[in-house]
Formats: sequence, structure tokens, C-alpha cells
Amino acid sequence: MPRPFAVCFSASLLAGFVAFICLTACSPTHAQSTASQSGLEPVRIQLKWSHQFQFAGFYAAVAKGFYRDAGLDVSLIEGGPAIDPVVAVLSGAARFGVGNSSLIVDRAEGRPLVALAAIFQHSPFVVLARRGDGINGPADLRGRKVMIEEHSAEVLAYLHALGLWPSGLQILPYGGDPLVLAQGDIAAINAYTTTEPFILLRNGVPYQTFNPREAGIDFYGDTLFTTSSLARDRPELARAVRDASLRGWQYTLDHQQEIIELILSDYAPGFDRRRLEFEADAMRPLIVADVVDIGYQSEARWRRIADQFADAGMMPQHFPLAGFIFEPPKPSLRWLYLSLGAAAALVALAAFLVQRFYRLNRQLLREMELSRRLESRLSKLATTDDLTQALNRRRFLELAGEAFARARADATALSVAVMDLDDFKRINDSHGHATGDEVLQSVARAVADTIGTNAVFARTGGEEFALLFAGRSPEAAATSCEQIRACISELRVSSPCADVISLTISVGIAAVRAGDATFDAMLARADAALYMAKKDGRNRVCAHSEAAPR
Ligand code: GH3
Ligand code: MG
Ligand code: MG
Repeated sequence: MPRPFAVCFSASLLAGFVAFICLTACSPTHAQSTASQSGLEPVRIQLKWSHQFQFAGFYAAVAKGFYRDAGLDVSLIEGGPAIDPVVAVLSGAARFGVGNSSLIVDRAEGRPLVALAAIFQHSPFVVLARRGDGINGPADLRGRKVMIEEHSAEVLAYLHALGLWPSGLQILPYGGDPLVLAQGDIAAINAYTTTEPFILLRNGVPYQTFNPREAGIDFYGDTLFTTSSLARDRPELARAVRDASLRGWQYTLDHQQEIIELILSDYAPGFDRRRLEFEADAMRPLIVADVVDIGYQSEARWRRIADQFADAGMMPQHFPLAGFIFEPPKPSLRWLYLSLGAAAALVALAAFLVQRFYRLNRQLLREMELSRRLESRLSKLATTDDLTQALNRRRFLELAGEAFARARADATALSVAVMDLDDFKRINDSHGHATGDEVLQSVARAVADTIGTNAVFARTGGEEFALLFAGRSPEAAATSCEQIRACISELRVSSPCADVISLTISVGIAAVRAGDATFDAMLARADAALYMAKKDGRNRVCAHSEAAPR
């Protein structure tokens, strides 16, 4: 049937379409456009300091091909005391940079920057102070000379929280050499827990650490950033750079020694291997990759950082964060809506076809049932008599012909009886044709009840009936006919005028004979016997052998 096929076809079409949409929507998006000759997009990332383990994840992403996989040709630009990554990125010298929490201060000052990933969940910035000389806690730094790097805004926030900044300290610029602590003149410096302590330990300079976290100042550390315009116009590029970098960081944490070798060979030849190892070990508790996804940043955390900078007077209170935290482009909803719409349309179409198929099917079943009933009614009409429901003449002759052939072939007994009501015209005339019909029905019922399954019974004419006895001896047939005759003679039918009608029947019987060529020959002899019964006074059964030849 074509309709189920149509339904199946619609269903598979729907499945195929949805699969196509999914594949299209889910395929990886590489950073595209402005590709170099290699097909890769050139990207410069400005590091915030000189090459060391601090930037290991970026080196790993280059070396392991993670940037290349994302369609990027990344150059890492080394930083240093004279290089401000914010300036480099805003000037276009690099499109991405590594900064720190003070990016939010920059943004508040009108520099349109966007944070892509907080690589260090905790800032490595601390204050390192000399031991002895009456310095036992951060409060003891009051009035002393402290060297602070220009961009260590969070250290300033810390000192502010301690009440030591802006007034309370003699602040000098820090050039990056922690050994100044050994000179006796400088009480403290700002430093990275990952770097300066190693140098001081190496040189036997005693020091103590004042950590901003002790004062509740817990800022993000190294943070990958870009400009607002790039994040807005090329979000897929920003995401590609971010994701490939974070892949590099994950690789670095899993393969620390391999990346140390890489730094020593490609980025900082001659660098102290143990210093890199110290730095790598000190970085792990700042990245805390076992607690959060590398690069994770939350609005609540940035809010708190902004509030603490604001408390230190370094940026306005309640500075809005909207747009500062990069949000990667969402998978195209247009495609999603389109595919959902198409899927819904196909589902509706399939439902329509299924419903239509169902209705047509039901209609077909109804029509088939109707025609089956009609057929059986027609076949009944063709074989039965309307008035008495007995078999009709045509059917009787059919069955008789078959029985005759069987009897001849098997040499079995066969008899036929023809019956005619006596003086039936008189009943019609006295009681009306309708009553005559009722009498005919009563007679048919009485004959059928008497004969049961012993013979085939039919109404063969107006008030004429016939019986066919197959496999029964002529004597048995004659006995049955005699029973019928007696039954009819005792039958009483009441007329509408309350008269009681009685009647009789005459019967002629013939048994099959060797000389019978056809059933009609038998029938003719039975008719002759009937004629004899009538002639002899009616209400009797006459067998053909008794009958006189016609
Ligand atoms: P007999 O057979 O004894 O010689 O007399 P009869 O009066 O029965 O005569 P005949 O068999 O020739 O007449 C048959 C009558 O049966 C004729 C007709 O009025 C009546 N008849 C035939 N078919 C029907 C029928 O379907 N309904 C009714 N009510 N009468 C019928
Ligand atoms: Mg008759
Ligand atoms: Mg008659």
C-alpha cells in the first residue's frame, strides 16, 4: 500500500534532516578570515613578563599545535619591566595580552578591555619584607621604604586595606630584583610567590611574606584579555585563542617537565632549571585546576575585586561589569530555531499523513465489511426463498444435481419427494392471499422441523415443496414423507378472522434408478407420483413404483 510507505518516507526524511541540522550546528568553528598564506590567522599575544614558567601554557599550545588546530598562527611576545600588555593590546601591537586583576581598573578608566580567562585563580602578588629590623607584621612597614611595581594594583589595594596606602609608606618603583631586600634600605617589595622567593632563598636573603589574602584580598592573577571591539566583532577568534590557550595550560599541568624542557630550549636558554621547577610547583596552588576548570572566571568574583579596588579609591564604586567578562558566542540560535521549525513541520506532515492513512484505512475496512454483508445477503437471496426462508428452486436443483452425480458414482441411495398443498386456491379464496402466505410459512416451518437434517428441503413453487434424501433408502424416505403428511394434516393455522385453517398435502416420491440419465428424470417420476397422489384423493404419499405410467 502506498500510504504506509509515504509515512515511513516522511519519518526517515525527518530523521535525516534533523541529523543534517545537528551536524551543521555542531561542527567546530575555526577562527576564520584574514588568514595568512598558510591558511592560519596570525595572532600576537603580549606576555606580561620575560619568558618563564608563568607562561608555560601558551608555549605548550604553540608547541603541541593547539593554536594551529584552531586555525591560528600565534606569536608570543615577551614582556618585561618596560612593557605594559594593556598598552600593547590597545595600540594594536598585539591582539591579546596577559594581564592581571587590574584589568578591571583599566576598564574603569576607559580602556575597553575584556577578560577572556583567569588562568591564576589566586594572584601570586605578595609583599616580601626583610626579616628582623623590627618588622613582624605588615603594620610594621609604616613609614618605611617599600618598592612597588607600577601595575601591582592589587598590592596597593592590600596596603590600602592595611591603612598603609596612599600615605603611610615611602613608595619607590620596583625594578624586578628582589635582592634589594638584602641592602638594608628597602623594607619590603611587591613580588610573585612563584619567582622572587626562589631568588632570595638561593642567595640566602632572609625574608617574610605578607599575603593580601590574609586581609581578605583574593584577586585573580594572570588573565588573558583582548579588546572589547575584538570580542564583539570576532568572538569566534577570541574563543579560539582562549580555548587553545587553556588546552595548552591543561597540557602543561599534565606534562610539567616536558614544558620546562621546552622553555629551556625554545624560550629561555640558560635559564635556571630549578627556578623553573620552583615556579611550576608554586603555580599549581594558584591555578587550582583540581578545583575549578582552568581559566574559569565568575562575575561574583570580579564584582568583589572591583569593590575592593573601589574601596581603595582606585576605581568608582559599583562600576558595571557588563561586557567585561567574555561570553563566547552562543551556537547560532537561528539554525536551532530553523531546524526546530523544520522538524515541527515535518512532524506535522507525518502526523497528517498518518492520520489520513488511518482514516482511509478505516473507511476501506468499513466498505469491505459493507460489501461482505451485501455479498452474503445477495448470496442468501440467490439461494433462499424470501417468504419461507427455505432453499429456493434454483439452489435445490443445484444441490440435487450434485447429489445425483455422487449417488451415481458411489452407487448410493437417493430419493426425491415433491409436495403440493391440496386445494390451496380455496384457502387463498376464503382467507385472503396474506393468510395464504402465513399458511405457506407455517407449512415450511413444520416440514423443516419434522425433517431436520435428514433431507434437503426447498420451496420449489407457489405452494410446492421438495425434499432430497441422499444416502437414505427409498423406504426411509417414504416414512419421512408420511410423517410430514401426517404433521401437515394436523397443522392448524389461525386466520385474522379467528378461523382455524386446516390443510393437507400430497407427496410424490421417486428413488434413483439405473436408467436415470439425469436428476430431471427422477424428478419427472416424482411429479408423476404426485399426480397419482392427487388423483387418488389427495392427502397421501405416493411412491413412483406405485405410480401408473404416464
Ligand atoms: P390442488 O393442488 O389440490 O389441485 O389444488 P390447488 O388449489 O392447490 O391448485 P393449484 O396447485 O393449481 O393452485 C395453486 C395455487 O396456489 C394458485 C395460487 O393462488 C396459490 N399460490 C401460488 N403461490 C402463492 C403464494 O405465494 N401465496 C399465496 N397465498 N398463494 C399462492
Ligand atoms: Mg400446485
Ligand atoms: Mg395445490
